[in-house]
Amino acid sequence: MTTATLTDSTTTQPEAPTRGFGCLRCPNCNEEATFTVYLDTLEPFHCAECDEDIPTADVLAWLQERETEQAKWRRLLTWLDTAPAAE
Ligand SMILES: [Zn+2]
Repeated sequence: MTTATLTDSTTTQPEAPTRGFGCLRCPNCNEEATFTVYLDTLEPFHCAECDEDIPTADVLAWLQERETEQAKWRRLLTWLDTAPAAE
């Protein structure tokens, strides 16, 4: 019995760009970390570095005086704002 795979290395399709927001600095541990977003409620964020859940309000408060971090986080926060209202 053979197992079908979804990838076929013989097909030539244009490569899709790698998308993502990269590593963002954590308001809790200040490390550049991989964040998890819960799709059901979109918050809290979860930091893989310090293993803490961080509410959006805490992120926004932390961003108040951090322009460099704002620019990186804003891309994510703007994207999350396009999510549908939870039912
Ligand atoms: Zn952290």
